[in-house]
Amino acid sequence: MKKSFFQFTFLELQELLSSKGLNSSGANLLYNWYYKKKNAYSKEIQDIAKSTLSFINENLSFSLPKVAMVQEANDRTVKFLFELEDGNKVESVLIPFHKKYSICLSSQVGCAMKCSFCFTGKQGLKRNLKAYEIIGQFLAAWHWLKENRPGEERILNIVFMGQGEPLHNFDEVKKACDIFTSQYGTSIGHQKITISTSGYIPGLKRWKDEIPGVNLALSLHSAFDEIRNELIPINQRYPLEEVLKYIDNIPLRYKQFVTYEYLLIKDLNDGEGDARALGNLLQNRRALINLIPFNEFPGTQYKRPKEDNILNFKEILDTYSIPTLVRTTKGDDVLAACGQLNTK
Ligand code: SAH
Ligand code: SF4
Repeated sequence: MKKSFFQFTFLELQELLSSKGLNSSGANLLYNWYYKKKNAYSKEIQDIAKSTLSFINENLSFSLPKVAMVQEANDRTVKFLFELEDGNKVESVLIPFHKKYSICLSSQVGCAMKCSFCFTGKQGLKRNLKAYEIIGQFLAAWHWLKENRPGEERILNIVFMGQGEPLHNFDEVKKACDIFTSQYGTSIGHQKITISTSGYIPGLKRWKDEIPGVNLALSLHSAFDEIRNELIPINQRYPLEEVLKYIDNIPLRYKQFVTYEYLLIKDLNDGEGDARALGNLLQNRRALINLIPFNEFPGTQYKRPKEDNILNFKEILDTYSIPTLVRTTKGDDVLAACGQLNTK
């Protein structure tokens, strides 16, 4: 089987070409063609040496994940169901803001972490995605925008908040970040990429050396270990205190924050005591809190709190002077909101 072009970092592509006796400057032209200009696959590329072109055409594949289904929500959120070469499916979501988009990418087929509130977790882990499949979600969504909402094909932020625990697939996620940030290609700044984790310490340990500058979001959901253990079973193995120790060790740029995501579930973690514990935990940290009212999905026992409770929770946090946002739910009419992704 041909290897995917989208699996190669810029350096690897240069090395591949050199190792075949070809001019490594072909890497610039190819990155420019497929990532900067985002052309579709073509057998003819301007200015590139014939020998390089025939090597590429014979040995590399340029196919992208197939769009198996697209759902457009009333608020213009777009949910994609992508089919991969082996028939597995993953979802990605384009989230609009002023004719620009953020894209929420999946990093695995399913997820091994089995969080009790998460639709994806119910699937279990099927397999890791390769970097080219992560990049492929981005490019396929871009091409869909160009075709269906011409002039709006601008995806400025990337968040790893789709299916999967990104740090459980560290190598491929890291490689995808490397490709996204390459100045020869899409040239997306590190500060435009956010990786959300449930607190998978083996990945947090590698963060500062291997993906410095990328934004971190921790799915916190409770300041108490007992509640966190119930919600996020890996908390039993990687307890919160230790998770925070590793996070505190990651250097932040000027004005950079760690986002703490806090799922609000009725009568479970939405009380005043919970809000105060959260405030106390984060008040001396460079923190931004993202409150996410629970999104219900078929078969879950959890409920979303009432609007008043959500506001009350936020008001308590405001007394700690920690910037706190309530995440507005986008795309919930097509089950594209956080935690509603499940491809079974
Ligand atoms: N595995 C990573 C990233 C994917 S989940 C993580 O857990 O952080 C992205 C976010 O959606 C997480 O904060 C997760 O807790 C949240 N989420 C999961 N299920 C949800 C649900 N049913 N309602 C609202 N948010 C949910
Ligand atoms: Fe996996 Fe994140 Fe869902 Fe937990 S919340 S099961 S880590 S995708």
